[in-house]
Amino acid sequence: TAMPAAPDQHDVERTLVLVKPDGVRRGLSGEVLRRIEAKGYTLAAVELKQATTELLAAHYAEHEGKPFYAPLVEFMLSGPTLAVVAEGQGVIPGFRSLAGATNPTEAAPGTIRGDLGRDWGLKVQQNLVHGSDSPESAAREIGLWFPGL
Ligand code: UDP
Repeated sequence: TAMPAAPDQHDVERTLVLVKPDGVRRGLSGEVLRRIEAKGYTLAAVELKQATTELLAAHYAEHEGKPFYAPLVEFMLSGPTLAVVAEGQGVIPGFRSLAGATNPTEAAPGTIRGDLGRDWGLKVQQNLVHGSDSPESAAREIGLWFPGL
């Protein structure tokens, strides 16, 4: 009887996770990594990076022109970001589920944003984490944050 084939390296789904500057400042990088690993995903790359305006313009291109765009870029430049590539079957929607809703006030308890985030009365949602929303976004964002990976 045939054994199920082990997924080839190429087929393993990967996503880009960011612990945004609020999460790094609050000392929550380890907690986010812990939740990714506790769920059963694997860390493929982890790097603390100071984002640049150019990187953020590419990363957030779809939001250019929106009212929260300028405060979002300013916030993302405010300190280092922990960039993470996480992998495993279903990790793209799986990490979005771990992260919870964009607005941390509405995010369900049990999620990263719901358990650890809140409204700080600022012009931008400081919501601790980013996770790619599709395979196309994941490939594009991993290329931006980890050129050469
Ligand atoms: N954002 C915001 N106000 C909004 C929508 C988004 O400040 O009304 C910020 C927030 O930090 C969010 C990021 O912009 O995480 C990207 O927005 P998106 O809608 O892609 O949310 P996400 O996929 O991160 O949940």
